[in-house]
Amino acid sequence: MHALRPLRPATLALAGLALLIPGLSPAVRAQQLGPVVASTSPALTGPRSNLPKDWVGLRPLSSGVAILVMPGHADSQGFGSGASGEAVALRGARPMDAAISDELFWNLAMVEAVVRLGQARGLNIRSYDPGVRSIANANDARTTWSVGKSHVLAGGYALEIHHDAHGSAGVGSGLIPPISTAPSRIDESLASEFGAFPRWFRDGLGAPKRGIAILEIGKLEGQLEASLRNPTTRQATIETIAQRVVTALEKGVAAQPPQTVITEAVSPPPDVVGSVPRVKDPQASSGAW
Ligand SMILES: [Zn+2]
Repeated sequence: MHALRPLRPATLALAGLALLIPGLSPAVRAQQLGPVVASTSPALTGPRSNLPKDWVGLRPLSSGVAILVMPGHADSQGFGSGASGEAVALRGARPMDAAISDELFWNLAMVEAVVRLGQARGLNIRSYDPGVRSIANANDARTTWSVGKSHVLAGGYALEIHHDAHGSAGVGSGLIPPISTAPSRIDESLASEFGAFPRWFRDGLGAPKRGIAILEIGKLEGQLEASLRNPTTRQATIETIAQRVVTALEKGVAAQPPQTVITEAVSPPPDVVGSVPRVKDPQASSGAW
């Protein structure tokens, strides 16, 4: 190794070119990508958001809370289609499905797995997919945003699953909490597992403004995308990530009130529970949110 000797520009250019040649054997590519992968992709889902987490999810949800999981960009193909992914954008790979973005393809697969595993583990969880892939009016009653908003207003928890853009356009994995309601303990649990974005990320996105959380699974690049695209590792990759989502959902639903709220509350004798006015939870008051 000539570690102390700077590479000539021509050598650098050649090395960069080699990374883009699809025919190069995986071993060669892995060798060349080695230090990069090691420093930025400690987990299957790649780098987590390193943006500040300026919120705490404290709002409790009932143990049987209805959880609605939706694929991001399901009805916005053609105008906000979602990430194309590194393979398609940089390496000329064919899209997984020519009719939709690769991000939507993986969002759909992940939603299916999360709901299937969640139901098997006893969560009150279901999915919603408009089926119609291009709905111009975001407030059309069929969009994920409209259905999610109604679900949240009815007391449920709504989540859109996304995959982030590759390269510098993407941030990484993480949870973007709702804006129109106080972040809940489910939001906090998902952020603990996947990382967090600021609450007003990009001045507030369409889903959070309607009370719907966004989970960015990870950037559609590198090991995550390769593991998803490889037919021999695809299903195991989806199942592994979906298990993480479901476990985080379970922990969020089961989370107990923090100690401070318990000590502030007046505990009535057991025989009068239900007959005294509820102690107002300072975290659930509307003004600050
Ligand atoms: Zn997205």
